[in-house]
Amino acid sequence: MSQLNPRQREAVKYIDGPLLVLAGAGSGKTSVITRKIAYLIEECGLKAKHIAAVTFTNKAAREMKERVSALVSGPAARGLTVSTFHNLGMNIIRLEHKAVGLKPGFSIFDQQDCKAIIKDLLFKEFDEAEEDVDQLQAHFSNWKNDMLTPAQAIKQAITAEDLTAARLYERYDHYLRAYNAVDFDDLILMPVMLFRNHPEILAAWRLRIRYLLVDEYQDTNLSQYELVQQLVAGRQAFTVVGDDDQSIYAWRGARPENLVRLQKDFPTLKLVKLEQNYRSTARILKAANTLIANNPHVYEKALWSQLGMGDEIRIIRVRNEEAEAERIASEIIDTRLKKRAQYKDFSVLYRGNHQSRLLELKLQAYQIPYRISGGTSFFSRNEIKDAMSYLRLLANPDDDAAFLRVVNVPRREIGPVTLEKLSSYAESRKISLFSAISEFGLESVLTGKTLDHLREFSEIILHTGQKCEEEHDAVPVLKQLFTRIDYEEWLLQNSTSPQQAERRMANVWILLDQVARMLEYDAAADEQMTLKDAIGKLLLRDIMDQQKEEEDEDKVHLLTLHASKGLEFPHVFIMGLEEDILPHRNSIETNQIEEERRLMYVGITRAQRSLCLTFCSERKQFGEKIETIPSRFLDEMPQEDLVWEGLGQRNEERNQARGRATLDALLRDLGD
Ligand code: ATP
Ligand code: MG
Repeated sequence: MSQLNPRQREAVKYIDGPLLVLAGAGSGKTSVITRKIAYLIEECGLKAKHIAAVTFTNKAAREMKERVSALVSGPAARGLTVSTFHNLGMNIIRLEHKAVGLKPGFSIFDQQDCKAIIKDLLFKEFDEAEEDVDQLQAHFSNWKNDMLTPAQAIKQAITAEDLTAARLYERYDHYLRAYNAVDFDDLILMPVMLFRNHPEILAAWRLRIRYLLVDEYQDTNLSQYELVQQLVAGRQAFTVVGDDDQSIYAWRGARPENLVRLQKDFPTLKLVKLEQNYRSTARILKAANTLIANNPHVYEKALWSQLGMGDEIRIIRVRNEEAEAERIASEIIDTRLKKRAQYKDFSVLYRGNHQSRLLELKLQAYQIPYRISGGTSFFSRNEIKDAMSYLRLLANPDDDAAFLRVVNVPRREIGPVTLEKLSSYAESRKISLFSAISEFGLESVLTGKTLDHLREFSEIILHTGQKCEEEHDAVPVLKQLFTRIDYEEWLLQNSTSPQQAERRMANVWILLDQVARMLEYDAAADEQMTLKDAIGKLLLRDIMDQQKEEEDEDKVHLLTLHASKGLEFPHVFIMGLEEDILPHRNSIETNQIEEERRLMYVGITRAQRSLCLTFCSERKQFGEKIETIPSRFLDEMPQEDLVWEGLGQRNEERNQARGRATLDALLRDLGD
């Protein structure tokens, strides 16, 4: 507590009513939350199991967990919830699945699974295969975030298009339930609806969560707002912290005005503002403040730092994206030596995931270790999707999406015609594909070998499922499953090299080891998970990330600006400071520059000691070279604190050559 400043201490100690901490980046908002958890447990005698802290991204939740466990650990921390909103929602519906109408082991469909449903629906029921699936999906998501039921959406529809979309929405939800599945938005929406309709269940949850803390509050959408409100109404014991300048999820339904609304809904709300920034040098902070001053403000904030002026902010112009990646790689090597830094002190931020590709190649070429957060995650690998589909099917045989993914993996000679027949039979009987296989009635449409193949597949799943329940340890049974179907051979046939197949098989074993670890009794949470629970958790993609991060390797972090929120690094690069990239073209066209500016603000304020921004004079687009325009954000920063490098083509080439020469020299030195 002595390490906190007086205002932070005030925020930590205030437990008499609702509290909002509104403050700029790096002012210790997350620190207030973690300290407050410790304070509630140690000084107020509140049991850890009655405290819940939520935030938005897995990465942020993980960071928060780490910070808390440095303060409280052992039995005192037992049962504490530190998670994402979605994880909290999932826990609620997992425990209340009956009341929300789900069977145990329900599946969580990812975006691709959901897209497949929409496509299928369009084709089968609406005869409109041409519709924009992405757009429909975004519609559904917005409706769910705004807590609009299909019936309401249908009622509100004005144009014929709206009506079609709303009807599709109704069918889509219907399909999900038939598969015993939910989508991501349901993880919040379902608890909200449950609590609306069942006050007695809500009352029980209020007894369970007696103090709620929310980080990054500016990013809550309407349904999340209501969930918070439901849980805290009555006792009004909560602390939320946020920064309206860091609201970057409007595109996912976030409503920064929820900050203002909070004051209306809770008239006794106490407001604490923090103004000292403990993260960045004064120059970095000034750049961030100057930039964000271009946005209109609800709350005025004046951030200051005592960490000294620090180095100037470097703006590096290079010829093209190749040179940009090369330059960043060489700068990392250079700074690491000069500042005696470690690789993990560096991060490179970018607007879109695709920007990391070239950079990865260059980093590999220079043998700079790196890790990517988000982007192509473990879970988007094909072998993991296959393995997860098998697990999903074991937990929930009604999961048609999982069924379709693996019914022919490895190949079982079950063709599209067979699947079509199976599917129309299942539809006429209103049952899942998997259940349809074991019905006698199916023999009227399918016979002979095809039916045998289907039944063999279903036998494998049923047999494995049964053994999992019988055996004390499910994981060896799961391993046998992959041996039995000879998945390794399948990988061998479908990989570019035996080495690749081997790596992919190893990934599957990593996944199963993870399941094994989850099934161990978790003393900290006082929880024993079932296989179904474990699979549900895995579907939220939390666990693998966690494992990766625990290793705390010395690697450069590559991540998108969105994913960087809440984090900090001594040395930060932001790449692609060009119009159409940052600000993004879509945002320019739809006039959402303010949100892009907040994104840039988030990026700048991640930096503790040095900040370097890069951009190219030309860039390839659709195979053609295009001259770029430097980002307007460069003009909006205090020019006296910037140093420009590589201006002008010739100059730039010289710099590049020099860069390469230094790099070669450095690498030689390192080699010696
Ligand atoms: P963001 O808006 O980016 O999420 P934040 O407001 O949550 O930032 P924190 O991450 O909590 O800020 O704190 C930023 C840094 O300042 C951290 O390294 C933290 O340890 C440090 N810090 C916070 N409060 C103090 C303090 N009173 N004294 C010294 N360091 C502090
Ligand atoms: Mg924070």
